[in-house]
Amino acid sequence: MTLSRQAPSRAAAKENGDADDTILELRDLKTYFFLERGVVKAVDGVNVSVGRRKTLGVVGESGCGKSVTFRSVMRLIQSPPGKIVEGEILLHRKDGETVDIVKLDPGSRQLRDIRGAEIAMIFQEPMTSLNPLHPVGKQISESVLLHQNLTRRAALERAEEMLNRVHIADPDRRISEYPHQLSGGMRQRVMIALALSCNPSILIADEPTTALDVTVQAQILDLMRELQDDFDSAIVLITHNLGVVSQMADHVAVMYLGRVVEYAPVSEIYHNPKHPYTIGLLNSVPVLGRKEENRLVPITGMVPSPMEEIRGCAFAERCPEAMEICWEQPPEFNEHEPGHYAACWLHD
Ligand code: SF4
Repeated sequence: MTLSRQAPSRAAAKENGDADDTILELRDLKTYFFLERGVVKAVDGVNVSVGRRKTLGVVGESGCGKSVTFRSVMRLIQSPPGKIVEGEILLHRKDGETVDIVKLDPGSRQLRDIRGAEIAMIFQEPMTSLNPLHPVGKQISESVLLHQNLTRRAALERAEEMLNRVHIADPDRRISEYPHQLSGGMRQRVMIALALSCNPSILIADEPTTALDVTVQAQILDLMRELQDDFDSAIVLITHNLGVVSQMADHVAVMYLGRVVEYAPVSEIYHNPKHPYTIGLLNSVPVLGRKEENRLVPITGMVPSPMEEIRGCAFAERCPEAMEICWEQPPEFNEHEPGHYAACWLHD
């Protein structure tokens, strides 16, 4: 067992001699919100990394810090009250250069160039990102013009090409339509076209299919997989849906109360979960034809407040395996099998 002082997949990659395959690495990241009633530790020491051209699934209950973690990567945390108080967000470029996104000035050109051209984000509700007052083609072409040295005409052609790539029929007509003229599924396709229009190396997708019908969800996930191959992008897929993660992800990070409590390749998470919280999440997924003896078991209790000072393991109150030490000391995030990390005293 080794204590991970760097983000888990990066550490594993280094041991295998291919550290260059890590594109994004979060080291001990802490993002707090300073409110009148106290400090909310939304992200409280996250260590995780994303492999080049790989998909990382990030799962956990609402409020576990998964969205805030990756909004921090995009530097989209409203300040005040939010602030990245500690840690590093390292973007490892192909040419060997590494940039710590935390150190960049929020208004800097460098950050603007990274956002969109190197890391792009899509959200659950496309209308939060699409401007209702402009045709979708104009919105994509403006983003292209911001990051690429093209003429207006070439940028519009690129917008049309992107609509075509995301399988929107009649892209030459749709290009001049407004977001409200499109269906929910089509708007999400436009968001993906917008996000990928500058060929970013990382696409962060925050619950991209939650608001869509099941059939449209499947189409959007297929599309993301197809485009990942075409564009060579890494994907961070933030979701509470373990079914989606099992289909899409290479690695999974399970988050609880602002921290990653388990990280492993996807098959390990499903077949050999180590953290009682991960086991609880898997047991509470409905499966068609599940046998009576394996019926759904919800996780009991509530997530503690992120304002509370917790002495031991944050999951202790809800954990069926809690021991004396769990109340006294927080478990360390250790590697228990090659590439499989968990923060739990049961394995130490
Ligand atoms: Fe449960 Fe203890 Fe492991 Fe926490 S450290 S998950 S309380 S067994």
